[in-house]
Parts: sequence; structure tokens; C-alpha cells
Amino acid sequence: MPTFRDLTGGRFDRWTVLRRGPNDRTNKSRWECECVCGAVGLVYSFSLLDGTSRSCGCLIRDVNVQRLLRHGLARSGHKHPLYATWHGILARCEKPRQSGYRRYGGRGITVCERWHDINAFLADVGSRPSPQHSLDRVDPDGAYEPTNVRWATASEQSRNWSPSTRATRIATAATMRRAKLKRDIERLRVALEARRLLQAAGVKV
Ligand SMILES: [Zn+2]
Repeated sequence: MPTFRDLTGGRFDRWTVLRRGPNDRTNKSRWECECVCGAVGLVYSFSLLDGTSRSCGCLIRDVNVQRLLRHGLARSGHKHPLYATWHGILARCEKPRQSGYRRYGGRGITVCERWHDINAFLADVGSRPSPQHSLDRVDPDGAYEPTNVRWATASEQSRNWSPSTRATRIATAATMRRAKLKRDIERLRVALEARRLLQAAGVKV
């Protein structure tokens, strides 16, 4: 018999436990809880204690809003400028009916697990430096993965196997580091902006 634990007054992420609620039909204990957004609900003891319930649902909504704002993937139709690039890569490598599959997936070119999530992909590659740049695999037989991909112009891509390659790669690494720093700053800026928007919309953050 597990010992009874009084959770009254406890804070579990966005929930605050108001009082003991009625047990469910299988006699599991539940608590009447108030979310920071003002919603009240009955939550199981174990859900509070193991962290599976952290809010009335507003937490995940807020996170999704932030994600939407961060990457501009809103349903309103404006997809991220790199959405087509990302989608094309996955299609070429993993959809045998796509044109181009023969030269990619059919040749064993894969996409790393992480990049199946567009958010991870965007975070890793950053934004396109110019319309002339496209994503180039450093090793043409290698996978689409962070260590094997860089932004390159058509002429840089044709230089890929020339003696200047090493110098180019070192310069590229420096560019990538600068780009990452810029991305980090941009991410912070967008997160703050999302917070501001949510606050303006009356969502407690
Ligand atoms: Zn809530």
C-alpha cells in the first residue's frame, strides 16, 4: 500500500495544487489544480509527481507558438525559405518515386536522423548566405549531415576537388562559426520577441 502524500499547495511546473479531488473509478488519487493561465483541472498524483502533466495544455501551446514564430512555419502559408530545400533533400534520398532519387537515395546517400526534424536542420545549416549559394556535400558520396554539408556557390562547388580545397574548407569553417554565432544571436532575439508577443496576447510566460 503506497503511503498517501498530501500535495496541497505544491507547485508542479505550471500547476498549483488547490485541494484533494475525487479519486477516479479505479481509486487513483487526483488533485484539483490551478494552472498559471487560470484553468482548473483534475490531475493524477502520479502525473504531477513524474512530470507528465505540467500544465492544462497551455505550456505545449506556448512552446508551439514560439516554434512557429522562430521558424516562420506558420500555417498562414509562409513557409521557411529553406523548407523547399529541406523537403527536396529528404525526397531525393528517401522517396524512390522522386526524380533524382537514383542519383541520391539510390546511390546510398542518406539523411541523418537529426535532420528529419526541420527545426534541427534549420538550426544546423543557418540561412542561405546568398541566392547563389546552395547546400553542397563536402564528400559527394557522404550523407546529408552537419559535418558533411556547407553553403557553396556553383563555382566553389566545382572547385571542390582542386588543390585549393583545403584552404576553402578552412575558410568555410570560419564562416560557419561566424554564421553559428549570428544564428545564436538571432535565436535569442526571436525568443525574446515571441515572449513579448505572447505577453501582449495576455499569455503568462
Ligand atoms: Zn494553462
